[in-house]
Amino acid sequence: MKILLIGPPGGGKGTQAKVLIEKYKIPQISTGDMLREHVKKLTPLGQKAKNYMENGELVPDSLILDMMELRLNDKDCINGYILDGFPRTIPQAEGLDFLLEKLNHNLDNVIIIDVPDDRIVQRMSGRRVHLDSGRVYHILFNPPKKENIDDFTGEKLSIRKDDEEGTVRKRLDIYHNTTKPLIKFYDKKNILNSINGDDEIENVSKEIAKILNNA
Ligand code: AMP
Repeated sequence: MKILLIGPPGGGKGTQAKVLIEKYKIPQISTGDMLREHVKKLTPLGQKAKNYMENGELVPDSLILDMMELRLNDKDCINGYILDGFPRTIPQAEGLDFLLEKLNHNLDNVIIIDVPDDRIVQRMSGRRVHLDSGRVYHILFNPPKKENIDDFTGEKLSIRKDDEEGTVRKRLDIYHNTTKPLIKFYDKKNILNSINGDDEIENVSKEIAKILNNA
């Protein structure tokens, strides 16, 4: 089961991926999470990627493809995986095709989770994180017990720079511009499905399950 989830930043891809991990026992491969780990650990890749990420810009394709080549060769990818946040550009999609061919893998399904921009801004600008643990809260949907304080450590919460409204709008513009060509790319392969992501988590999961069960 090799699935690609496409959706705007903050559109619930990560949440849906977690449901699929449980169901199919396959790993989620999120380039955003991998890059954040590199930045945190101050690796050479992290140092190169940091500024792009903080400004809401895309990290260069060559860095992403090198990182993915290593990841897709890991043993846990043998039975399948959920790609989340990659590919984001046509060169990345072409690079992925090349990698898949080398590994003798096939992408089974590409699922687009659609969410209107204003909903995304509402979701993301309310996000607060505990930086050390990565715990994420939301001032409306998942507030901490005490305002702006982490439930477990009592430490202050922060707003990630890439969750600020200006940055979110910029990321959405980039998302729309880069996704359009990707949609065409995968539509030609007849593996593309689109679902409404502006709904309860369970309903979105059901839509995804319907698609995968029919595959
Ligand atoms: P995400 O958590 O997927 O929204 O990713 C956070 C940030 O990491 C993005 O705003 C980009 O700067 C960078 N990033 C993640 N995945 C990619 C990718 N496939 N190509 C380029 N940049 C990426």
